[in-house]
Amino acid sequence: MTYLPPAPLRLRLDGDALVANWRMLDHASGAAACGAAVKADGYGLGARGVVTRLSEAGCRDFFVSNWAEAKAIADLGVTVSVLHGVRSEDMGLAKSGIARPVLNTARQVQRWREAGGGICDVMVDTGMNRLGLSIEEARSGLLDGLEIQTLMSHLACADEVHPLNRLQLNRFALVKERVNACRYSLANSAGVLLGRDYAFDLTRPGLALYGGVPSPAAEERVRQVVFPEAQVIQRRRLHAGDVVGYNATWSAVEDTELAVLNIGYADGYLRGFSGVGCARSGDNVFPVRGRVSMDLLIVDVGTTSAVAEGDWLRVEYSLYDSALRSGVSQYELLTGLGKRFSRMWQ
Ligand SMILES: *Cc1c(COP(=O)(O)O)cnc(C)c1O
Repeated sequence: MTYLPPAPLRLRLDGDALVANWRMLDHASGAAACGAAVKADGYGLGARGVVTRLSEAGCRDFFVSNWAEAKAIADLGVTVSVLHGVRSEDMGLAKSGIARPVLNTARQVQRWREAGGGICDVMVDTGMNRLGLSIEEARSGLLDGLEIQTLMSHLACADEVHPLNRLQLNRFALVKERVNACRYSLANSAGVLLGRDYAFDLTRPGLALYGGVPSPAAEERVRQVVFPEAQVIQRRRLHAGDVVGYNATWSAVEDTELAVLNIGYADGYLRGFSGVGCARSGDNVFPVRGRVSMDLLIVDVGTTSAVAEGDWLRVEYSLYDSALRSGVSQYELLTGLGKRFSRMWQ
């Protein structure tokens, strides 16, 4: 094997915070079990690291998007549901039993039945108009005799006060009345925080596990999990009037010093942070100057700090605040985190 030097950027991942967030959501789910959405490689953290830690904490139900994602965690011995269901291309893997499909369409139901059926989940659309059978289809007898482990629906506006929340809850109850399943499940992260009515038998948080804040009221209850850090590649002195970065969008009003960090928009640190993000070292805060580049970030370390070439700086990434400042959603801030970070659980 050829030697690879350590990456100049890393994600510190706080495993205790991840587990604490799951426990908070589990508690808020009341009598319902609390699962975990680990699609998109565990929202960018790395699904295997997430699943290992949460299953140790007692989490039993995991949700991914597709069969490749299911396969990537299949050896960890947990129960996995594939939210996008089964295409004919997926049937080989689906029949091998590594995960359950969440059947979304009449065709998927038929495909599953024709292949011999077996335990599956079913999604019903109650108003989002994304994936799932219509309420009429679900109540039509289409599902009769199917071995449904979890019948679910998904909330469109759980992170807001919105009349659709109550409407979806009522419609879901209507489906539950007619369709037999071992368990019923409606709530994502924000749905868990809407109240116990929404929990049914199983909740499916994603965002809040990873430090996302689904509603402002929850800010105190969710712990930050993801901490990006980048190494200083170069230091330079700047004179009053000098400009910084692509398109020279920032110019110094007085002499100062810069540090150039090994992180950029190709790592998921998007241009929305230009001029609004910051990095930190100890109690010092270093504002981002000019535009974020593809692989580099320029921060103002002032004339008094001791930041040196080779130092590591923490890049501010508290999700609620960073989303407000950058205009990038908390979901995108997580799932955009690139491949070049070394991911370090602690
Ligand atoms: C992504 C997803 C979740 C998790 O949603 P969060 O808002 O991240 O908590 C739950 N259920 C379904 C069907 C999803 O697609």
